[in-house]
Order: sequence, then C-alpha cells, then structure tokens
Amino acid sequence: MQRNTAQKKAIETVFQKHEQALRVDDVLTYGRELVSTLNQATVYRNLKILVEQGWLKRISHPTLGILYERAEKRHHHHFHCRECNRAFELPGCVLKEEQAVPDGFVVEEHEIFLSGVCPSCSQEDHK
Ligand SMILES: [Zn+2]
Ligand SMILES: [Zn+2]
Repeated sequence: MQRNTAQKKAIETVFQKHEQALRVDDVLTYGRELVSTLNQATVYRNLKILVEQGWLKRISHPTLGILYERAEKRHHHHFHCRECNRAFELPGCVLKEEQAVPDGFVVEEHEIFLSGVCPSCSQEDHK
C-alpha cells in the first residue's frame, strides 16, 4: 500500500470510530494512534480531498472553529459544552424553516449552534 493511501485510510478510520464532529487537532491525535508518522500538513491535505469527494462535511463553528464530520449523516445540529469544550451531536432538527421566516423568503439551508453545559459537566457542578 502507498504511504499516502495508508494515511488517507487512517483519517477515514478516525471518522468511522469517532461519531462526533472533529477538529483538525482531534483528527491528528486520533490518526497518530493508527499511523504514527501522520503530520498536520497531511491531515489538512486529506481532509480537503475528503470534503471535495463529498465524504466529509466542513462546519464553521462559532466557538470551536472548523469542524469535520461524515457527510452522509442526517441533518442535525451541535451542542457545545463551555465546561469540557466538546461538541455533541443532537438528534434531528426541530426548526420549521417555513415558520422561521416571513412570507416571501425561501429558505435553502440553515445552521444552528447550541451551547451551554453537557449532562456530565452539570452533574459535577452539584457535587
Ligand atoms: Zn461538558
Ligand atoms: Zn436544522
């Protein structure tokens, strides 16, 4: 197997093993567990290729910056915990697009980012 192929495969494996949206640094950390020679330039290059191929989706998160996740997932949103700084995937979407805009506007897409405290961090607060 070519070296490049092995590195791309490792990055794909990272996204198969980790369900949540990942930062470049997360991809690098998890990817190095599989291919120890993986570096940031290689990760960036392969993420770009995987986005172009439609395998990954790039999300611009207001707090966490650029995140990547599998493109095949159903439409959903993310919850950011300000305590542990993790992004959690939320099930489905409750927004009724046609009710969210006045008459005459045609919605083509939307993105919503929720933030607060996750269940495990809110439990720690009460200890
Ligand atoms: Zn948390
Ligand atoms: Zn939505």
